[in-house]
Amino acid sequence: MSTTASTSLERDLTALLGAGSVLPGTTRSYLTDATESRNLRGKADAIALPADADQVARTVGWCYDHDVAIIPRGGGTGFTGGAVPLDGGVVLSLERLRKTRHLDPELWRAAVEAGVITADLRRRARENGLFYPPDPGSAEQSQLGGNIATNAGGPHAFKYGVTGAWITGLEVVLAPGELVRIGGPLRKDVAGYDIKSLMIGSEGTLGVVTAAWVKLVPAPETALPLAALYPDSAAGCAAIEMILGSGIVAAAIEYLDAGAVAATRGAFPVELPDNARFMVLADADGTADEAARIHEELNEVLSEQAVLVHAPTDAKEINALWRWRDGASLAVTAQRGGKVSEDIVVPIDRLQQAIDETVEIGRRHDIEACSWGHAGDGNLHSTFMIDLDDPAELERAEHAAEDLFALAIQLGGSVSGEHGIGLVKNGQIAAQWQPAAVAMHEAIKRCFDPKGLLNPGKKLARV
Ligand SMILES: Cc1cc2nc3c(=O)[nH]c(=O)nc-3n(C[C@H](O)[C@H](O)[C@H](O)COP(=O)(O)OP(=O)(O)OC[C@H]3O[C@@H](n4cnc5c(N)ncnc54)[C@H](O)[C@@H]3O)c2cc1C
Repeated sequence: MSTTASTSLERDLTALLGAGSVLPGTTRSYLTDATESRNLRGKADAIALPADADQVARTVGWCYDHDVAIIPRGGGTGFTGGAVPLDGGVVLSLERLRKTRHLDPELWRAAVEAGVITADLRRRARENGLFYPPDPGSAEQSQLGGNIATNAGGPHAFKYGVTGAWITGLEVVLAPGELVRIGGPLRKDVAGYDIKSLMIGSEGTLGVVTAAWVKLVPAPETALPLAALYPDSAAGCAAIEMILGSGIVAAAIEYLDAGAVAATRGAFPVELPDNARFMVLADADGTADEAARIHEELNEVLSEQAVLVHAPTDAKEINALWRWRDGASLAVTAQRGGKVSEDIVVPIDRLQQAIDETVEIGRRHDIEACSWGHAGDGNLHSTFMIDLDDPAELERAEHAAEDLFALAIQLGGSVSGEHGIGLVKNGQIAAQWQPAAVAMHEAIKRCFDPKGLLNPGKKLARV
């Protein structure tokens, strides 16, 4: 799109949304997401900041009328370039839709707007004795709308499920600009096809989420984590399978491999022995008695082959352990300044193979690799560490990622467990799904977005 057209576009959108609601398309902070660590940056014609759901509908309507692409944007923490405008169009940021419309603690539910920060929703629930479990590591920056659009997980998805499990209804803007409610404060609803679930995880390619009804549960009274260190992935993965085999219901089971432990060990709350090269981090929650019992059971199973177990019990130390876990991704990035980080998922009995093969793939491409992630869900953040100033290294890492996707599929897994396809995994669905399912994927897109203007070029089954 030309500069003149973009200027008149900004003027038209300003007339629609009011002064101060439109930023120039060159505003840098809206042109990238967490894939900036692999040098991905887009370009836009304008940034729209609607104030409410009606304004979102008007923006989508205007763009649809004028054949302008719409790129919905939440907190911009995505790891797949989903919120990055590829080739112009309007970045539609939901950041001003921050209202809690209802919070009914006695009925365990809330209705909140899409731009609410995930951690704020979790805090509001807590203040009312309730729990909103989804806890992506980006919770202080990501938005509920972005979490819905990616069906985000996090450590406690192991016990409580991913974002979609907590959404009972959605308010969305569908093409060509209709504000529609699907579901609501309902704990069950099987009328019609499950359009709500189609929207969840659709990465802004089928519509724009403006609000959601979420269900909540009474907050667990206590949560007690423990971190066990092992000499290698074989011992660590055996311990993970022992947790499951013993019938212990942990709230979270996380892992870090040797490279991830090396990148983060300096910041770990206690000193780690030299032979600590694999970590299992598990959490026990429930009533005080229940959490203490599960914690003890976990300690017994995890201690068997561990070289060290760190089991904090006071609130300050527990927070320090989770803060350290939340910093793992950044600590790995800091190793070389950049990274190509993926999120494959495999059946739990193939976890060790996927962890070891990640490092082997890196070796084959001459790139240092490591992984960490949500072990209980078989979800690996397999990562290739790179120097961003070395384009050859980035290229090798992208090739390594291709091999990693092939590995996930070969192990009976998937190319994405929680981050989605976005831009960086386009085409991978066709490698994983049978042709009829791929055709259905494409037909759904055409049905929701006949002009192909909703986040174009993202979540493509085939390229
Ligand atoms: C440090 C770090 C840790 C992370 N940890 C986790 C983790 O544990 N689990 C996990 O699942 N992810 C994790 N992520 C990835 C990321 O935070 C999630 O994918 C998150 O859900 C993205 O939310 P967002 O609001 O930032 O969305 P954005 O990055 O802004 O957008 C993501 C996608 O959703 C679309 N979108 C955004 N808002 C809307 C809307 N209202 N309507 C329609 N489409 C929309 C965008 O177009 C884009 O395709 C992590 C990221 C970082 C940087």
